[in-house]
Amino acid sequence: MLFFILLLASVLIPLQAAAAETGNENAADLILLNARVYTGNAARTWEEALAVRDGKIFFVGTSSGAAKFKGEKSKVLDLAGKMVMPSFCDSHTHLIDGGIDLTECSLLECKNSKQILETITKYAREHPQLPWIRGSGWSLPCFPGGNPTASALDVATGDRPAYFDSQDYHSAWVNNRALQISSITKDTDDPKGGHIERDRKSGKPSGTLRESAMELVARHLPARSAQVYADGLEKGQALANQFGITSIQDAMATPEILAAYAAAEKAGKLKLKVRGAQKSEPDQDDEKQIAEMLELRRSYSQLKRLNAGTVKIFADGVIEAHTAALLEPYSDRKGESGELNFESARLEKLVSRLDKEGFQIHVHAIGDKAVRTALDAFEKARLANGATGGRHHIAHLELIDPADLKRFRTLGVTATIQPFWAQKDDYISQLTEPLIGPVRSERVYTFGSLCNNAAVLAAGSDWPVSSLNPLDAIEVAVTRKAPGATDGKPWLPEERIDLASCLSAYTIGGAYVNHRDGETGSLEVGKAADFIVLDQNLFDVSPDKIHATNVLLTFLDGEEVFRHPGFKD
Ligand SMILES: [Zn+2]
Repeated sequence: MLFFILLLASVLIPLQAAAAETGNENAADLILLNARVYTGNAARTWEEALAVRDGKIFFVGTSSGAAKFKGEKSKVLDLAGKMVMPSFCDSHTHLIDGGIDLTECSLLECKNSKQILETITKYAREHPQLPWIRGSGWSLPCFPGGNPTASALDVATGDRPAYFDSQDYHSAWVNNRALQISSITKDTDDPKGGHIERDRKSGKPSGTLRESAMELVARHLPARSAQVYADGLEKGQALANQFGITSIQDAMATPEILAAYAAAEKAGKLKLKVRGAQKSEPDQDDEKQIAEMLELRRSYSQLKRLNAGTVKIFADGVIEAHTAALLEPYSDRKGESGELNFESARLEKLVSRLDKEGFQIHVHAIGDKAVRTALDAFEKARLANGATGGRHHIAHLELIDPADLKRFRTLGVTATIQPFWAQKDDYISQLTEPLIGPVRSERVYTFGSLCNNAAVLAAGSDWPVSSLNPLDAIEVAVTRKAPGATDGKPWLPEERIDLASCLSAYTIGGAYVNHRDGETGSLEVGKAADFIVLDQNLFDVSPDKIHATNVLLTFLDGEEVFRHPGFKD
């Protein structure tokens, strides 16, 4: 009998060991233990462990429960109480453009006109081979009236043509050589939807171009190669993964940009789930552009991480350039209330057509008239087509007429907010409030009111316009102050939103907008293992420290795509 038991044991023990070592099919590829796991599920519950197999979460629960799935090849991370949460989705970014900007003359760090001119002078000197000097990131408040001059740029660049996008990409600053190449003279009329700034005395173009006038010079810029786009993606993606972002909506996905994402996916290098918003052009025939958009969408329909099923519509411009469309005139310009890029009947028709074709529509709307016109168009589309499930969204939403707040919910339109903009910086105090007056200044970026009206929120950076780091933006949404500011009053404090709502906008809200909420955006069994590990618990730290939180690890489909140099397992 004893012999029999020993025999049985000698057979069973190696069998069990072998099962655990080689591929007991229950074994996890990755187990996180002893963490504070913020699942971001509908009930916003917390757990302490996760187990991942084949890129998917198959267990969420206790550490002892997860430990049972340990096999010989399982990677186990004991996180000693660190916070784990779904990775971020940035629902409005220009990732490749931002990445390319980092390879050109970037002015983002410059605080005043002197620093800007010094940076350009140095860049021009260090890049003597470039036919054009190109860069971006100058901040409008650095120049009187947001209006830098060609002659100032000439001093820094010499005789080579130069083109610099402003930080918000709604203005360009060019030098005299660029004006000359583009044949822009005092006799050149403003193009539709644009403005050439001019010297008040001579009427000559002074060097700053707004909106569609930028194109007068931009079309002379040398074309960028596929390699430039690929390098831009690599740079932008590395930064995104570092900030815990694994999903994005690219808010202006040109054919070149879509091609760059597709090429990266085919090469196994795309570490983001991307929804590309193809840009519609006000000066083109709508049926012709819809045909081209359908073709582009079709050509990428086999890819898993890239989807080109969204169309971007710029309903208006920005307040600081008087190009946002307002219901009432600008306070500093009599009778002027800004223009819509697409007059309302055309917008309604275009939106209905795109909606019927199964596109998602992503509208840029800043002024309250642009917001209302977009909502009207969505309402008409719903009447015409029924609920198509397009999950349309409106981004920016600087001014919303109070009467329109509840329409987001009733029309099923997501509000895609840029939380970082909800701080009282120079753009607000110098270039916004004087233009809209005291009454409207009380209702700028009314995120709290959107929440109170049960709008579905998504969130995005609009990078490179502002910080790509979601934790910077989340802190601003929660505090209505600049990141790290401990003094001063919050700006329009009733419009703050709570941390959980903001995290939800940056995770499941974005997944919803990208039509991937069944796959990502929360940590639940069956979903992709898209998550991050943070060095402090966002719910424990004081709100002014949220921006100082570091992402330690970023996972996409169970693959580690970023590791903080300070993190050791
Ligand atoms: Zn944008």
